[in-house]
Amino acid sequence: LRERVVVVENGDELSSLAKLFNDLMNQLENSFMKQKQFVEDASHELRTPITILEGHLSLLNRWGKNDPAVLQESLVASLQEVRRLKGIVQELLTLTKVETQPVQDVLEPTPLEPLLVQTIKRVEILQPDFTFTMKTANLADVMLTINPLQLEQVLLILLDNAVKYTVEDKRITLEARHENHVVSISIADHGMGIPEADLPHIFDRFYRVDKARSREIGGTGLGLSIAKQIVNNYQGEIQIESQEDRGTKVTIRFPLAPCLRLH
Ligand code: ADP
Repeated sequence: LRERVVVVENGDELSSLAKLFNDLMNQLENSFMKQKQFVEDASHELRTPITILEGHLSLLNRWGKNDPAVLQESLVASLQEVRRLKGIVQELLTLTKVETQPVQDVLEPTPLEPLLVQTIKRVEILQPDFTFTMKTANLADVMLTINPLQLEQVLLILLDNAVKYTVEDKRITLEARHENHVVSISIADHGMGIPEADLPHIFDRFYRVDKARSREIGGTGLGLSIAKQIVNNYQGEIQIESQEDRGTKVTIRFPLAPCLRLH
C-alpha cells in the first residue's frame, strides 16, 4: 500500500495519470488507517465490560454456590455488563450502517412539525421530571425529503444526552425554524455542560468527557458520532455550544431539499 509512482512533471498524460494514482493510493491508505484505528478503539471499548464480566463470573464460580449475597450481587452486576455490551454493539452496528448505506433507499416526504412533536412526546413519557418546551418559527407545511427514522434517531440522541447530563435544572428546549430553504433544529439544556478543552473532540467516536461518569450513566461515546454522520448524509451540519455548569445547545441545520451524498 505504501508503493507510489515517481512522477515526472512534464505535463503529459502519463504524469497526470501517475499523480492520480498516487492521490488514490494516499486516500486508500488514509481510509485503511482510519478503519484500523476504529477496530482498535472498538476492541478496547468492548474489552472493559468483558473483563468486568469475567471477574464477576469467577466470583460466582468460586463462592456463588454457597453464598447467596455473592450470587445475587454478581448476577446483577453481570447482567448490567451484558446490557452494556449489547448497547455498544448496537451502536457500533448503527454507526457502520449510517456510514455505508445510501440514504436514497428510504427517503420519503416527511412533515417536520408532527415529527418533532411526536419525538418530544416519546421522551416526555419516559422523563416525567423534565419539562420540555418546543418553539417553532415558520414551520407550518415544511416537508423534508428524508428517512424520518433517521431524523428521529438524531433527535433522540440529542434529547437523551440533554437528559443524561442534567442533574438539577431539568428544563429542555427544542427550537426549530425554517429560513431560506434551510431548516435548523436546536436542543438546549441547563445541565453540566462540557469543558472548553473537550469541545473539539466531542464528535469523535468513543469520546467522553468523563469516562467513569458516562459509564455509570450508560453512555458509549458513539451517540454524537452517529448523529453527525446522519446529518452529514443529508448535507447538513451539526454544531455544539456549551459552558461548563451552565448547559449545552446542539444545533443541526440542513437544506430543505438536500442534494444527497452517494456513498
Ligand atoms: P455518550 O453515549 O457518552 O453520551 P455521545 O457521543 O452522545 O456519547 O457524547 C459524547 C460525550 O459528550 C458524552 O460522554 C458527554 O461527556 C458529552 N455530552 C454530550 N452531550 C452533552 C450534553 N447535552 N451535556 C453535557 N455533556 C454532553
